[in-house]
Amino acid sequence: MPVDATQPYDPDNIFAKILRGEIPCDRVYEDDYALAFHDIAKQAPTHILVIPRGAYVGWDDFSARASEAEIAGFVRAVGTVARNAGLVAPGYRLLANSGIDAGQEVPHLHVHLFAGKSLGPMLA
Ligand code: 5GP
Repeated sequence: MPVDATQPYDPDNIFAKILRGEIPCDRVYEDDYALAFHDIAKQAPTHILVIPRGAYVGWDDFSARASEAEIAGFVRAVGTVARNAGLVAPGYRLLANSGIDAGQEVPHLHVHLFAGKSLGPMLA
């Protein structure tokens, strides 16, 4: 069921459980603002999800409610994950599904990081 981006935050969503350590994940990075882990059903040779620690359904409430420090920290974390994985030179793609038409499935903001092959043209 795709996520309605206007819904209240569900503290029992799967990524909230991962953040609380109630469900395991294959962690690649964490700091005060973000956690990054491998997607359970990867769609590219490298497929990492980066999520903020704060309780945000998606881009709308994150961009509207998060502090400057949270936004900056999250953006820096995404870049750090890519840099640490050696992806700056070969390149990578970032994607964030937001809401129903995008097919967002998990109601906690996440950025997909795809890499490891030529990714072809953008889908639109
Ligand atoms: P969305 O469609 O919401 O943008 O993407 C959700 C992503 O979360 C999917 O790529 C899916 O494979 C991934 N995912 C869903 N549940 C889990 C989980 O329990 N662990 C991990 N690592 N990834 C998950």
